[in-house]
Amino acid sequence: MKNIPYGRQEITKADEEAVLETLRSDFLTQGPKIAEFEKAFAEYVGSQYAVAVSNGTAALHLCAMALGVKPGDKVITTPITFAASANCIKYCGGEVAFADIDPETFLMDIAKVKELLESHPKGTFKGIVPVDFTGFPVNLEGLRALADEYDLWIIEDACHAPGAYFMDSNHQKQLCGNGRFAELAIFSFHPVKHIAAGEGGMITTNDEALYQKLLMLRTHGITKDPSLLEKNEGGWYYEMQDLGYNYRITDFQAALGLSQLGRAEANLEKRRDIAHRYDKAFAGTSIGLQEQAQEYSNAFHLYVIRVNDRKGLYDHLRENGIYAQVHYIPVHTLPYYRQFGWKEGDLPLAEKYYSECLSLPMYPSLTAEDQQYVIDRVLEFVDR
Ligand SMILES: *Cc1c(COP(=O)(O)O)cnc(C)c1O
Repeated sequence: MKNIPYGRQEITKADEEAVLETLRSDFLTQGPKIAEFEKAFAEYVGSQYAVAVSNGTAALHLCAMALGVKPGDKVITTPITFAASANCIKYCGGEVAFADIDPETFLMDIAKVKELLESHPKGTFKGIVPVDFTGFPVNLEGLRALADEYDLWIIEDACHAPGAYFMDSNHQKQLCGNGRFAELAIFSFHPVKHIAAGEGGMITTNDEALYQKLLMLRTHGITKDPSLLEKNEGGWYYEMQDLGYNYRITDFQAALGLSQLGRAEANLEKRRDIAHRYDKAFAGTSIGLQEQAQEYSNAFHLYVIRVNDRKGLYDHLRENGIYAQVHYIPVHTLPYYRQFGWKEGDLPLAEKYYSECLSLPMYPSLTAEDQQYVIDRVLEFVDR
């Protein structure tokens, strides 16, 4: 019996060596691999600064803190995302507003964000958390123009999208997380994502002040940097200047992330090849596909299809050893968010999407043979 999951990490001998080397060194945490990983990652996505943290959710929390989200602040995000994209606002006491999705791209619809902004007094909302869902890059140029008009900040949740890009109006390539249009962007190194570090996360930015703030917030709000201290009583001296957290990553996790980052571009090509084969196999059938990003620039963390009998297909695949997954249950319908007044019917396009969506196996080591097996099992169910 086959056992094909929707996502799977890949650990090579080189990855193992990189981790062992760090374990044998003097540093388990706060060592040289963290700065190396940050520098290499910033280069990969084209940002000036990067701050490695313990996971993607911690990255989101620190971003919301650094931007000063406080009780009562209203922030807009998409319902089709992992709950953490919204939770980071709640951690700071803020309120979450959801804008419905574009049924073709499955991303938050900028027109819906505009409607929301126009239907409230100016100043109602403080920021937007767009998500590059599946790895499809949000058009941040368009969103930035809207954000500027309403004086909003942007945190790009790019967990699905390292290496993805869109072409701006000057036909320049804009990589997800490059900090050109959003104040901050975040990534996750959970094993199902492109780069596995066990747990891990990264914040990227081009804003030096935010960068300095994030460095401090990830380690209790404490600094030892002589240029930032109010006074200096000696070599041991530090100041806690803000209420931060322990959101540090370990050096051996950073070593693993760094080693994996070296294969990221090659793996991205493999993901795009897999997506291409699915696209070809399903073209002309009743299966609904995500609109393609310009130049096929999606990073394809996920490959999502839409079918009428989703539960039937999910069960059929399971019976055949294929473990597809659903991304995502709309966040506004989760019991925690219902208590704030959200209910089914509020975001009909997201809810319809949810009733039909299924994420098929998508990971670089998926063989052509296994993919064909998946395609055959899908088509025999859909076409019967
Ligand atoms: C995975 C993910 C997160 C959270 O990352 P963790 O590292 O698991 O905390 C946040 N947003 C999105 C869109 C994700 O896919």
